[in-house]
Amino acid sequence: MAIKGTDIVKKLPEGGKKNCKECGLPTCFAFAMKLASGGITLGKCPYISPVVKAELEDALSPPIRPVIMGTGANAITAGDEQVLYRHEKTFVHQPGIAVLISDDEPEAEIQDKIRKFKELQFSWVGKTLRADMLALRHKPGDPARYEALVKRILAATDCPLLLMSENIDTLLSAHSICAERKPLLYPVTPANVEKIVPAVKVKPSPVTAKADNINGLVPITNRLKEAGIEDVFLDPGSMDLQSAIRDQTLIRRAALKQSFRPLGYPTVAFPCLMAKDRKREMLLASLFVVKYAGIIVLSHLDEHSLLPLLVQRLNIYTDPRMPMSMEENIYPINNPDASSPVLITTNWALTYFLVAAEIESSKVPSWLCVKEAGGLGVLTAWAAGKFSGDSIAPFIRKCSIESKINHRRLIIPGKVARIRHELTEALPDWEIIVGPGDANEIPAYLPNLVKSWKR
Ligand code: SF4
Repeated sequence: MAIKGTDIVKKLPEGGKKNCKECGLPTCFAFAMKLASGGITLGKCPYISPVVKAELEDALSPPIRPVIMGTGANAITAGDEQVLYRHEKTFVHQPGIAVLISDDEPEAEIQDKIRKFKELQFSWVGKTLRADMLALRHKPGDPARYEALVKRILAATDCPLLLMSENIDTLLSAHSICAERKPLLYPVTPANVEKIVPAVKVKPSPVTAKADNINGLVPITNRLKEAGIEDVFLDPGSMDLQSAIRDQTLIRRAALKQSFRPLGYPTVAFPCLMAKDRKREMLLASLFVVKYAGIIVLSHLDEHSLLPLLVQRLNIYTDPRMPMSMEENIYPINNPDASSPVLITTNWALTYFLVAAEIESSKVPSWLCVKEAGGLGVLTAWAAGKFSGDSIAPFIRKCSIESKINHRRLIIPGKVARIRHELTEALPDWEIIVGPGDANEIPAYLPNLVKSWKR
């Protein structure tokens, strides 16, 4: 529960009555309300005491801390979730999918996992779906073998890493090899926390607090926070489906509903260690997508189970308030040239994929212009004024399609005679053609239309 503006104002200078305007706002009350909504920072008021500042910073921070693993374009963020149920608002950061590689696995298996991690990518509604990170586990034995694995993975991939070793010296030495990639260290326990803290202070990396139950996590996260380490994941040690649901739910509820800071961090889940067979492992992984893991570690990758899991993740972490949509753009299909036909439609993903797929199967090189229309279908967007003549014409002028072609013919697929009329007025130098009523008529329609143009 975030602190309210009315509570913040009581903590401001002179009980919120100073009203000196130095923050750029007319009153302390206005400052407090803006601060509560995230529209201004605490630093804008020079009169807040350090104690109150620390108190307010804590109260204003997200109930579940966002934690970043890895660096650059491959970095993954977990946490920062605001709701228990997706339909309340939206889930924000989809869980990272990791595959586990142990340093005692046969060479062929390690090679196969690295290959699959790199190769298994799926195109899905304009996005590329894939696993995100590798979890490298040290099995008791030769620390040099683990270091060699870490170096090898470092050279072979640029993904975020989860380093796992019960041996604290091996863990820290692996960390020093790849610290610039900000790997996630696992586990931090009461037994090793005093050794981890100084190492992570020197070379910052996120860490995972691990205990046998939720209560056991609290002293570890408190100790880490006291040491200034707040990039933390939680592993409550659940080893079966029932306790996994219970623990994940209790952690999320404690963070969001009780504002219980020691549990206000994302979690790591290990279906790879919990399940006896692969089917059950995927069942658990699927459960953790919904409730509420920040990272899910699998024992293997195969396309038949990975794709459904990634699609489920995409669906659960898509904002239910926003229709699936495409970026406003010009999409070339079948290698078009200057004489190729130009079609236009809205940016609702379903509309785009139907029209694009049918153009593709027509084999006619074409330009497909996709106009931003709030993710609505053609007729709904037209009714909402987002796909009318007045809104399409400026898009056509600015989207640079005119510089790509040597004609001025624009096809609108769909039963859209009204839009044609509007567009004819708004784009007088273009011939506006209403295409077939259904997208599946495009493969027959488009070749014939082009033939008639050439006559
Ligand atoms: Fe109030 Fe501080 Fe703003 Fe002055 S600068 S009005 S004291 S919030």
